[in-house]
Amino acid sequence: MYDFLIVGAGLYGAVFACMARRRGYRCLVLEKRKQAGGNIYCEEKDGIHIHQYGPHIFHTSNREVWDFVNALVPFNRYTNAPVARSGDKLYNLPFNMNTFHQLWGVHTPAEAEAILQEQRRETVEKMRREGRTEAENLEEQALLLAGKDIYETLIKDYTEKQWGRPCRELPAFIIKRLPLRLCFDNNYFNDLYQGIPEGGYNRLTDALLEGVDVLTDTDYLERREHWNAQASKIVYTGRIDEFYDFRFGHLEYRTVCFEEEKLMTPNFQGNAVVNYTDRSVPYTRIIEHKHFEVFGEEVYRNPVTYVSREYPVEWKEGLEPYYPINDERNNRIYRKYRELAQKEKNVIFGGRLAEYQYYDMHHIVEKVLNLWKHEGDDQKGL
Ligand code: UDP
Repeated sequence: MYDFLIVGAGLYGAVFACMARRRGYRCLVLEKRKQAGGNIYCEEKDGIHIHQYGPHIFHTSNREVWDFVNALVPFNRYTNAPVARSGDKLYNLPFNMNTFHQLWGVHTPAEAEAILQEQRRETVEKMRREGRTEAENLEEQALLLAGKDIYETLIKDYTEKQWGRPCRELPAFIIKRLPLRLCFDNNYFNDLYQGIPEGGYNRLTDALLEGVDVLTDTDYLERREHWNAQASKIVYTGRIDEFYDFRFGHLEYRTVCFEEEKLMTPNFQGNAVVNYTDRSVPYTRIIEHKHFEVFGEEVYRNPVTYVSREYPVEWKEGLEPYYPINDERNNRIYRKYRELAQKEKNVIFGGRLAEYQYYDMHHIVEKVLNLWKHEGDDQKGL
């Protein structure tokens, strides 16, 4: 009946379906949720698109990826420039000359660099003594990147709130995503291109899935044999441990819960993202959704606004699995599942849950586009 059965209508599944359809293959997409789009799904309220599963900002330096998504739906000029609140003070992110001025009153890159060096010294010397060039954990990586003041004001509590673990027990790579620059530049990403689809992310999902058969509210694992019989190949984007009935144990995730509120004011916080870096505030950030899509005076045309407070929560069965926890234990378990997955002849595993890896949206698009470049020479014979 179908060439591909795609389990999960998130970004991986939707891009895969789009590429397969373009090459003339027939796809059936199964989605457990009530709607397609995975975590990029938005709900429209009072003309505002609410990022239902957390803020998503598309950014990439890959021209091919950017052209691919823009050909489906034009992207706006949103640039992510979050602000961090600690006590009564506001600091610009990522760590840049504005932040250094706010923290230390410095005016020039040379002044900032001198303080940063001093603040990093202890960590640099410790690593030198121990003959190491790589940080052992997130705390060390943060101290190496930004020094003591920034670590203590803007990183430590925020990270421990978000991950529910001490920074010393977290992997260093998490913090490597954050840039540090000696320029007055509040752009959170270093990528060449970034933006939000005009009219919201659902337009991107709809364009990707146009002409593809999609069944929502359908749990593949409940009737696996039945669905397997519908197609010659399977693309699985769900949790890999669940696919294998947890035979090597459960993988752990970190999740977040959102408390959404409608406010009768046009502009609550003046920015899409404000991070709350103190431990005393129970949420990590407040998202004001309209700022992803309207700018300047336009913000005031709509008299209301929607905000979401984001609370990190320890994941348990039944909650949404957001972030894989790539510590040693989990990675060891994942590798066992991956070994099985690699032996599967007719199943392609892809995406954040099936590969147990933190991916940004552009990584996913790039991965699927690359897969199709090698159509035919992949051992799974796409
Ligand atoms: N982070 C931090 N303070 C901040 C923002 C981020 O310490 O104000 C750290 C935190 O450890 C987080 C990591 O940087 O897990 C990556 O943050 P980012 O916002 O890029 O990740 P996201 O939650 O959007 O995936």
